[in-house]
This record gives sequence, structure tokens and C-alpha cells, in this order.
Amino acid sequence: MAKFESEEVLAVKEGLERLPGHDELERALKTLLRELGEEPDREGLLRTPRRVAQSLRFLTSGYRQDVDQVLNGALFSVGYDEMVIVKDIEVFSLCEHHLLPFFGRCHVAYIPTEKVIGLSKIPRLVDVFARRLQVQERLTTQIANTIMDKINPQGVGVVIEARHLCMIMRGVEKQNSVAVTSAMLGVFRDHTQTREEFLSLVRGRS
Ligand SMILES: [Zn+2]
Repeated sequence: MAKFESEEVLAVKEGLERLPGHDELERALKTLLRELGEEPDREGLLRTPRRVAQSLRFLTSGYRQDVDQVLNGALFSVGYDEMVIVKDIEVFSLCEHHLLPFFGRCHVAYIPTEKVIGLSKIPRLVDVFARRLQVQERLTTQIANTIMDKINPQGVGVVIEARHLCMIMRGVEKQNSVAVTSAMLGVFRDHTQTREEFLSLVRGRS
């Protein structure tokens, strides 16, 4: 019973209160276990559907987040028109083709016209889109387009480097292959020098 309660507390902490359809999801996961050849009622699996349902709710919590709410109060007008760059943001997402994780780093840069986004909000913005079923290409462009929409900068650059378990675990790719995607908008697309400055800052990591 104590174990049960601690999971409840964890769920509340993570904002994983049972959502509509949760029972249905747990039933589906029980079916999944059975179809995989397991016995869903054996001790070790008894609470697995519930845990997996909660875990999936968390990993897809981006569907229930609102970009404006995340950025609320964190758009500032400042007299700054140099490149803002936030690099090495950890990204964890689920590939929509296999429901397996892909994970890596995201680098975000933009050159403001008038407004900037509070620096701490950029990783949160990345999570809004990463915590959904995704393909890496779309995740990359969604982040770039959102920054473009919200603060109308001179340009935005987003690069994601990620490893996909659906490729690695199934032996489709070698262990260390990394997929790299980028989205370049505005001056990052039009000016080679700006793009190169961004990419060289990204490459310059330890
Ligand atoms: Zn996949």
C-alpha cells in the first residue's frame, strides 16, 4: 500500500492526475502485454499498465501545454540585436513511427528585432514540442517557427542532434549514428555568415 501511495504522490507531482481515457489506456496496455505473450496478472506486471499509462501521459504532456502559457511574462523588449544562443539543451522525445525514444541535444539561436525570450523559457519551449509523438524534422521546425511567430526576430536557427532507439535497438543503424536536423529561418537562411557563426558556436562545445 505504501508503494501505491508513493506512486500517487509522484503522479501528482508530475501533474499526471488521471485524465479522461486513462482507464481505457490501462486496459489497452494490459491487452498489449497479453498479446506480447505475457501474463498481465503476474506480480511483476500487475501495476505495469498503470505505470506505463502515467509515464506515457508525462512523455506526451506537450499536447496539453500551451506555448503562450509557457512563455507568459517572459518576453522582454531590450536594446539587443546580437545573436542569442542556447545550446546543448537536452531533448527526449518519442518517435511517432515506433513509439521508441529518440534523444540528444538541441541548439537554438535567434537574432532579436525588438523582443527576446527569457533564456530559461527556451528549454521549456523545446519540451512542449518534444513531449509528443514526433519526427525529429518536425520537432526542429516547430521550435523554429514558434520562436519566429512569438517574437518576430530577424531570424532563427535550430539544430537537433539525436540518437533514435528505433534505429539503434533494431540494428538499422550503428550504435553511434546521430541524426542531425536543422531549421534556418530569416537571416539564418539568407546570410551564410550568420548561419556559419551559429554552427561554429554549436560545434565549439566541449
Ligand atoms: Zn522510429
